[in-house]
Amino acid sequence: MIPRLRPATGLFDVIAAFVGRYHVVEFERSFAKLMGQAHAIAFPYGRTAQMMLIEALGFKDRDILLPAYSCVVVAHAIVLSGNRPVFIDSEPGGFNMDLDKAEAAITERTAAIIATSIHGYPVDLDRLERLSAAHSEVVILQDCAHSFSAEWQGSPVQRAGRAAIFGLNISKLMTSIFGGMITTDDTELAEKLRAVRARQIKGAGGRRIGRALYLGAATVALVPSIFSFVRYISRFGLLDRFVRYYDETLIDIPADYLDQIGRAEASVGVRQCAAYPGIVEHRRHIAGIYNTMLESRYPEGRPPMVEGATWSHYVLRVPDPEKLVREAAARGIEIGRIIDYCVPDMPAYREIAASQGPFDETRRLNASVVNLPLWVSERTARRVAATLGAIL
Ligand SMILES: *Cc1c(COP(=O)(O)O)cnc(C)c1O
Repeated sequence: MIPRLRPATGLFDVIAAFVGRYHVVEFERSFAKLMGQAHAIAFPYGRTAQMMLIEALGFKDRDILLPAYSCVVVAHAIVLSGNRPVFIDSEPGGFNMDLDKAEAAITERTAAIIATSIHGYPVDLDRLERLSAAHSEVVILQDCAHSFSAEWQGSPVQRAGRAAIFGLNISKLMTSIFGGMITTDDTELAEKLRAVRARQIKGAGGRRIGRALYLGAATVALVPSIFSFVRYISRFGLLDRFVRYYDETLIDIPADYLDQIGRAEASVGVRQCAAYPGIVEHRRHIAGIYNTMLESRYPEGRPPMVEGATWSHYVLRVPDPEKLVREAAARGIEIGRIIDYCVPDMPAYREIAASQGPFDETRRLNASVVNLPLWVSERTARRVAATLGAIL
């Protein structure tokens, strides 16, 4: 079985997790350099980073605009920071938030907008710049969890705004096992973030071996031959953390969301910063193979090939995702469902979102998007594309 995701980690990363000597500050320095920014500040999760960023900016009882088509934890972090999420539908035919609709939703309550380069597709920075020029009081934040340094016509998205948020768990483009990061060029904000962190975040203390073992297990278990066995014995349990990470009725956050990363995470993170350009290069190459091979079989469902995209996911739009997932699984390929829930429709958000929307484009994406494994070799990619082409 070919798993839908696999971290770009190997034996040396696992060794680094056990015995690497890097401190979190060294990881922050490497990450800031990779993103071309003055400051990087590390947190336990991307969502923790987002909450602390909102706190450092001093927002309370305000509106924060975010894409309806995004990871549910972004909305959770807004609510848990004491603010109100305002969901914005996706642009027609695309994946990112519709910035015309976002601009129309701005009121005097609006504090910020979380621009998101979903699946690695860069936000239209020209359109965002026009929005920002007309509403200079609205703070622009970038959610770069899918787009570590995606570029809009040559400009890295993370630098367009006050700060950018990153998630670093093993399902992301690059990983430090656990962790999140904020980057900014604003020195005053960076100091505030460090102060907020010092007040609220606890030390790493005593979890190193557990986290190193976790990375070792994830690295080994997601090798295809082993994955088949693991999948059989665990019935998906290993990936639950990433597949079933939310409860429709709850606005919650993991119990350890204030427990800082330590040397295990930092040592893996420093290595991944060095590996990152190669990781994206490989994913672009595999996405190109999928796109070329599916051209004759299924041209209409293919994702756009956008210059500067980071390919966190290769997303295909199909009429019956569950059927494709089942049929591909029967042929040894795990296809992912990504954001198959509509956040504004969840019981936890229905009331808040009742006066917002409509969310037609988002619901269309929720009901049609699947993602193909991008970590695979060229040979495996050809097999995956041929198999899916035949099914479709
Ligand atoms: C993963 C993710 C986050 C948050 O990262 P965590 O570390 O899981 O809290 C934020 N936004 C998007 C789009 C993500 O995919």
